[in-house]
Amino acid sequence: MLQTDTPNVVYPHVYIHVPFCGRRCSYCDFAIAVRKNVPVDSFVRAVMAELVMREIALDATSLRTIYLGGGTPSKLGGPGLARLIDEIGRSAGVDKFSTFSGHREITIEANPEDITSQSAALWAAAGVNRVSLGVQSFDPGALEWMHRGHGAAAPRQAVQSLRAAGINEISLDLIFALPAAVRRDWTRDLAQALELRPTHLSLYGLTVEPKTPLGRWTARGDVVEAPEERYAAEFMEAHEQLRGSGFEHYEVSNYCLPGHRAQHNSAYWSGVPYLGLGPSAHGFDGSTRRWNAPAYAEWASRVGRGEDPREGDELLTQSERDSEQVYLGLRTSGGLPLRENELTTVAPWIEQGWAAVTEGTLRLSAQGWLRLDAIAATLTSIRSRS
Ligand code: SF4
Repeated sequence: MLQTDTPNVVYPHVYIHVPFCGRRCSYCDFAIAVRKNVPVDSFVRAVMAELVMREIALDATSLRTIYLGGGTPSKLGGPGLARLIDEIGRSAGVDKFSTFSGHREITIEANPEDITSQSAALWAAAGVNRVSLGVQSFDPGALEWMHRGHGAAAPRQAVQSLRAAGINEISLDLIFALPAAVRRDWTRDLAQALELRPTHLSLYGLTVEPKTPLGRWTARGDVVEAPEERYAAEFMEAHEQLRGSGFEHYEVSNYCLPGHRAQHNSAYWSGVPYLGLGPSAHGFDGSTRRWNAPAYAEWASRVGRGEDPREGDELLTQSERDSEQVYLGLRTSGGLPLRENELTTVAPWIEQGWAAVTEGTLRLSAQGWLRLDAIAATLTSIRSRS
């Protein structure tokens, strides 16, 4: 039987999954709902109904971050997205986040084609102060191959509109290691991204998921994945370029200018409680993980019937906590405190330049992060035996 929410948990971080997209990108296997006309009102109502039904009490003084991810939250439009944030604020006892004293990081993921000066102004007035922009590439051919909904010029216009509205914390998402046949110029894309002067960049290597158009193209032999060597070369090229431009590499996929780390994402990596609302949203109350029904229609219909939309949950065992601590520690620049019996295991990694140990903490280099899964598996296996 599914558990109810643990009572009296204070959530400093809130994630809301907004599942709507205008079309499916060729590589994407996220839980999305493709809609020409987004049901904004019923979605906002359903998110708020989930909050009430689960008897979650948000508290203004403890609330640190709100993150709207997707899908494409910007598909809620200017007024719809602003209303959702206002309603979350009111449930926490805040009339308007933009006029509330104290800093809250409020991030939305957005696609460039959805950003206008009007929508950006409404988001800023609701308290949005950080936008994660799904750019992926500036190359028209690559954008078309990825089935993206924007052209090469849209990111620049989007960034101008955000800045004009006063939103200056701007992160750009880029995908690297595209198949050679796409003929994408990674060096040029990196330079164009830097020209936009973002405070943060997230870089993701393309992975082929089976139930996607890309998965089918690859299975048919129409597309050949980038080899590991090019994956590593493009990752290292970005690393050198961004480090040289003043960015710090603070998590395997994330770079920022000093003082501009993503606070919400950093909370995930430090293992503190966070609330997940919306279809497929995951949450953690400090001991139990839970996740909602992934399909939008199923989630909405359960919430509409007054039922908990939870699809499943798991109470983390000590060994799961240990392995998670290893993985989370290694993926960030904060590193992982080492145990005495691990020193001989890590010595060859240090010799190869994959890691360094300072004051008993192991920190991976960019070369080490290319081997993150193997390194984490080795340390997890040692800890499970001791
Ligand atoms: S916009 Fe994002 S979530 Fe939507 S289909 Fe594309 S990659 Fe997936």
